Amino acid sequence: MGAKGWFILKLLMFQGLFVSRPQEDFDFFYFVLQWPGAYCDTKRACCYPTSGKPAADFGIHGLWPNYNGGSWPSNCDPDSQFDRSQISDLVSSLKKNWPTLSCPSNEGFKFWEHEWEKHGTCSESVMDQHEYFENALKLKEKANLLQILTNSGINPDDGFYSLKKITNAIKNGIGFTPGIECNKDPERNDQLHQIYICVDTSGTEFIECPVLPRGRCPSQLQFSKF
Ligand code: 5GP
Ligand code: 5GP
Repeated sequence: MGAKGWFILKLLMFQGLFVSRPQEDFDFFYFVLQWPGAYCDTKRACCYPTSGKPAADFGIHGLWPNYNGGSWPSNCDPDSQFDRSQISDLVSSLKKNWPTLSCPSNEGFKFWEHEWEKHGTCSESVMDQHEYFENALKLKEKANLLQILTNSGINPDDGFYSLKKITNAIKNGIGFTPGIECNKDPERNDQLHQIYICVDTSGTEFIECPVLPRGRCPSQLQFSKF
């Protein structure tokens, strides 16, 4: 091969380094956990899953790809349908850690299907369906949020706690600032509804949030019983 041939070959290899790598089409994930007491304690009804009342613990809502600017992609791949056979080894853990509370009562596959199709399909450049659910389960274990809060004297006892105290407890526990989201109970009290933790594009490491979600929490909020 002549000099020109080598040059073209090198150029192609160099380009390949950048072109053939899977490109992430999002900037980070929100890992979102819901407090069941706050999902159920609203005007809208909740239904326990067919396996019974979930533990009084945070449950996974989803692992959501997001852009640094605050917007997010959704429903990225209609060809990648939820396939329960790919996650059969994870189902018992999903039932425990990712319980569904919507009505009518069901096992949870509908919730997991919704989350995969709306959010998971937007992270297919970095993980497949099994990895998506497995990563979420590992992140929940790693965050250990309820333990962090109760260690700081913040208990789901219908008491009111300051937003600062809750935020700081989690920041000290996991090393990064969480987003806290509130909703209202029927008496119009603001209560702790969801916690957002930011995760890198690999779906495994917590990071500082590039942008925090709008939380709708006042300075004092209720941590409802479940
Ligand atoms: P809501 O309007 O209840 O806050 O959100 C409805 C749904 O929109 C969420 O369950 C989620 O699927 C999506 N969503 C809301 N906010 C965000 C966000 O900041 N990032 C991403 N990726 N999805 C969101
Ligand atoms: P989002 O689009 O808000 O991420 O997903 C919420 C959808 O999942 C809604 O259609 C809701 O009915 C369904 N869903 C099923 N179980 C649950 C649950 O336990 N919590 C929430 N927030 N949504 C659930």
